[in-house]
Amino acid sequence: MEKIVIMKFGGSSVGDVSKIKNVADKILAKKKAGYKIVVVVSAPGDTTDDLLKMAYDITKNPDDREMDVLLSTGEQISISLLSISIKVKGIDAISLTGSQVGILTTDSHTKAKIKEISSEKILLELAHNKIVIVAGFQGVTEDKTITTLGRGGSDLSAVALAAVLEAECEIYTDVEGIYTTDPRIVEKATKIDYISYDEILEMASLGAGVMHARAVEVGKKYGVVIHVRSTFTETEGTYIVEEDSAMEDVVVRGVVFDKNQVKISVLHIPDEPGVAASLFESLAKSEVNVDMIIQSTAENNKNNISFTIDKSDLAKAMIVVKVLEENGTKILYDDEVAKISIVGVGMKSHAAVASTMFKALADNEVNIHMISTSEIKVSCVIDFVKLEVAATAVHKVFGLDS
Ligand code: ADP
Ligand code: ASP
Ligand code: MG
Repeated sequence: MEKIVIMKFGGSSVGDVSKIKNVADKILAKKKAGYKIVVVVSAPGDTTDDLLKMAYDITKNPDDREMDVLLSTGEQISISLLSISIKVKGIDAISLTGSQVGILTTDSHTKAKIKEISSEKILLELAHNKIVIVAGFQGVTEDKTITTLGRGGSDLSAVALAAVLEAECEIYTDVEGIYTTDPRIVEKATKIDYISYDEILEMASLGAGVMHARAVEVGKKYGVVIHVRSTFTETEGTYIVEEDSAMEDVVVRGVVFDKNQVKISVLHIPDEPGVAASLFESLAKSEVNVDMIIQSTAENNKNNISFTIDKSDLAKAMIVVKVLEENGTKILYDDEVAKISIVGVGMKSHAAVASTMFKALADNEVNIHMISTSEIKVSCVIDFVKLEVAATAVHKVFGLDS
């Protein structure tokens, strides 16, 4: 029996009609090589951002359910145009929305989780020798409401489909694979041939946009080998695989940054039990994901708490923290910050990694606002304007330059 392969194409790969035709050619070449093909596509180019902007031009806090109805339209443009491009070449194809496939999700709008995927419809169409083209990033709840999976979520659609169909998974994008850092920011970034699920999961969670974090999680759970590679060249990319002992020899695998951070400071909050619990419980209830937290003691039984969140959650978070102002607490926010992190499974067994990073930042006059560490990462919040200098210096000091 022919093997099934999932080919996922990101937004920049289907940015205009000529690119969509190029993708169609790539798919047809793969079919000739003897595969059954399920394609997952993102919305063309900046479509999702443009749709978001339209809604935010109406209100700062648009309704989540309606945002999902809006954002899911982008992917429908790509699936239909790609299917048309394949059919004109005389090969049969069919486009399917998440709902038509049966990608069942939770109802947590704009960040829904996949609960179940039905393989029936896809297998039926593959049996009819069709190329199946699925809209990424979207699903449907049990009561038929459209949902989306979070920004960059087409990767998750692709890996989850690969898990269900026991297929190989190829993620086609606009760079040749996973690099030691974003090659668009640090010129000397080096391509990685093999990376462990844990390392890329950490990198993705810390902001490396090249793969969606939950896609990696699903890949690890179901043992899907993921090949991240370029749409525009034939070069082998990066394989995401289980960790092997040789990988631990590398202390720092990559440098990651997140430009979408905001730091919120809650100043002069009472120093008593339950204060932090109630603040972060309220934020969680409003579905605001909190990242780093620092608490320091101020005078007179008062504390200062600072924390970081994603920019997209700022409006929701401010509604929660503003309530505290009634009791004399002062609220500040700073959206001119960024987070830079180093990641590597080998860090577990090597000392002085954090101090080497801090020294590289200090030598380049980069001030550190916040620090957090785990077994396989160190993160610092710094001024946004210093990001490029910081990334270049840290990449160099750990010997990652190409
Ligand atoms: P797609 O539209 O194909 O999903 P994305 O923009 O989501 O593409 O992801 C690809 C981009 O990820 C690259 O253009 C690159 O700028 C960025 N990127 C960030 N960190 C890395 C990294 N470590 N390796 C490769 N690319 C990275
Ligand atoms: N179109 C969606 C986004 O821009 C999903 C994706 O591209 O993966 O976030
Ligand atoms: Mg992406």
